[in-house]
Amino acid sequence: MTDRLYYHDSFLYDFDAEIRSVVESPRPALILDRTAFYPTSGGQIHDTGWIVPTDSNADPATKLRVTEVADAEDGKVVHYLEAPLKDIQPGTRIHGQVDAARRRDHMQQHSAQHVLSAAFLRLFNMPTVSFHMADDYCSIDLQIDDLDTPSLTKDQIESAERLANEIVLENRPVDIRFVTRDEAEKLGLRKLPPADRDHLRLIDIRDFDLTACGGTHVSHTGQIAGLLLRKSEKVRQGYRIEFVAGQRAVSTARRDFSTLTEAAALFSSHIYDVPQQARKSLDEIKSLRKQREQSQDDLAAAQAAALLAETPEIHGRKLIVRTFSDRDLNSLKLLAQKLTRQSSAAVALLASESPQPALVFAQSAGLPYDMAALLKQTMAPLGGRGGGSKDLAQGGVPQSVGLAAALTAAAESLTP
Ligand SMILES: [Zn+2]
Repeated sequence: MTDRLYYHDSFLYDFDAEIRSVVESPRPALILDRTAFYPTSGGQIHDTGWIVPTDSNADPATKLRVTEVADAEDGKVVHYLEAPLKDIQPGTRIHGQVDAARRRDHMQQHSAQHVLSAAFLRLFNMPTVSFHMADDYCSIDLQIDDLDTPSLTKDQIESAERLANEIVLENRPVDIRFVTRDEAEKLGLRKLPPADRDHLRLIDIRDFDLTACGGTHVSHTGQIAGLLLRKSEKVRQGYRIEFVAGQRAVSTARRDFSTLTEAAALFSSHIYDVPQQARKSLDEIKSLRKQREQSQDDLAAAQAAALLAETPEIHGRKLIVRTFSDRDLNSLKLLAQKLTRQSSAAVALLASESPQPALVFAQSAGLPYDMAALLKQTMAPLGGRGGGSKDLAQGGVPQSVGLAAALTAAAESLTP
């Protein structure tokens, strides 16, 4: 078993050790007799850093980058390395260097999690069932037995956040204690791990939280420096709360502020007026859209009336054949509908060259042609796709070349 130096001192970033074994595949890795590197476990992600051989015969330029640290089943800690190993033998003395900035961040997040979990338990009797640490945020899952609880309220979230930050401000000592399982059972821990160990490591936040944990923690709550609760969402057994602590809280707030500032600049407003301004703009868009629809409808009706007026009725039908340069499919369709409703004898063969070359064929109800069949026949040489009913059919073609001629041919094929 690897001697875990971080169990006793979370602030130990430099240490000396000896290589016990060298692993070459599937990934290069080292196992040491002792380590300050934290392996991914208990929700906390692993440390990174460097391992430097220090034997007198070692190449002084060798600096091995530790990219991942994991627990092996036999109690050993595996240090995965970025590059393959050259001439490194078991027994070599090394100096280990943990990336201190990354470790400090993890301590802040993990200790913040203990404080926050204790706050939710004390205030609302909601136990934490899991903890997840990602590179940019952390989350806890709260178990809620009362299925009638519709949601975690904004007030509850703010209360827990306030209590957690008070504990941070009070700068309470955070002690590491080792006890037997029997002793632990009498201490009333927030969370007792499964009974597979005789000795437990406890993290004791003075008079606030006592729980079994193997993670690295701050020595005083003040080092957490503050917590910011973010998203809360319903998960299967309860609620997931996202949070950030320490420098992450500051960088997250900074990013939020930049985003809001950018949004506020678009509205030329104060950042706190952004939601109101956005709502106003959305209402305007909605009302303009409605107005536009009405105008398009009016315009199509007027155009249909004009087209019908200038088209003579021959053999009981008014044949309207038009290719527009710039109309979308919907406005073509709208015009076709107006034409065939305003007249009981209209046959409309309409096309548009852009934005997407399109065709709409329609006839007034009761006329004898089959628009879907005519459309299909017209589009076949153009390589288009579409369909419809006997009275209304629509389709698109890949390009506008030959569209007008195809329409003329379609009109000629309609025998009275
Ligand atoms: Zn923990």
